[in-house]
Amino acid sequence: MIEFKEVTKTYPDGTTALKGLTFSVGEGELLTVVGPSGCGKTTTMKMINRLISPTEGSIFIHNKDIKEFNIHELRWNIGYVLQQIALFPHMTIEENIAIVPEMKKWKKGDISSRIDELMEMVGLDPATYRKRKPDELSGGEQQRVGVIRALAADPDIILMDEPFSALDPISREKLQQDIRELQQKIQKTIVFVTHDMDEALALGDRVCLMKEGEIVQLDTPQNMILHP
Ligand code: ADP
Ligand code: ADP
Repeated sequence: MIEFKEVTKTYPDGTTALKGLTFSVGEGELLTVVGPSGCGKTTTMKMINRLISPTEGSIFIHNKDIKEFNIHELRWNIGYVLQQIALFPHMTIEENIAIVPEMKKWKKGDISSRIDELMEMVGLDPATYRKRKPDELSGGEQQRVGVIRALAADPDIILMDEPFSALDPISREKLQQDIRELQQKIQKTIVFVTHDMDEALALGDRVCLMKEGEIVQLDTPQNMILHP
């Protein structure tokens, strides 16, 4: 589904963030990418939707080099959930979720039923929450909206970059469980970045451990525990 081949990234100031990264993510797989701050996790994620391009090497989605995709087509097919909750504060929850479906010119009725479906999926009662503004939701609820907004237009791939880092441990655990359930329901390809090894092991079908721009180990959580 997603394939990195010998990807290297050197920033203009000479910092080498990635050193010959080669790995793939299978269709419907949840891959967690874990490692200390500065090891190259965010750089890897930004490359998948072409916010950053490789200095060397190539990235493929469905066996097609991402350079060959129309940029809008590529980004519309990738949901991106960021560390900082990036909901628009002046817009209601339903308006926030509708952004990409509207850009894709979905019918109003389809968008509306999609919003209900997604909100129910993560336990947010649409009757209560649709018309609220982000600041009328708790941090955990806002993060849930961030997650379902990324899913709204049914992308093939979902990228999550430390989506729960700002949350208290209880909301965080609840959301981890939500993501696992969500993954089972929607069977999407998900790449989930975290600096927390426990989170990576709890969530991933496989775990990619990075250090200083390289992959140290890429394996199932069971094998990671047996061979740390
Ligand atoms: P992580 O997400 O794992 O914290 P990043 O991918 O953000 O790591 O960064 C990897 C390395 O690249 C770090 O050394 C970081 O300082 C460097 N880096 C990230 N962005 C830039 C940039 N725009 N210019 C120069 N160096 C950068
Ligand atoms: P995070 O890993 O926390 O998500 P980002 O990768 O989004 O952080 O980095 C925040 C900003 O700082 C980005 O604009 C990035 O390009 C920039 N940046 C990160 N590391 C460096 C660096 N070493 N030199 C210059 N800019 C950097």
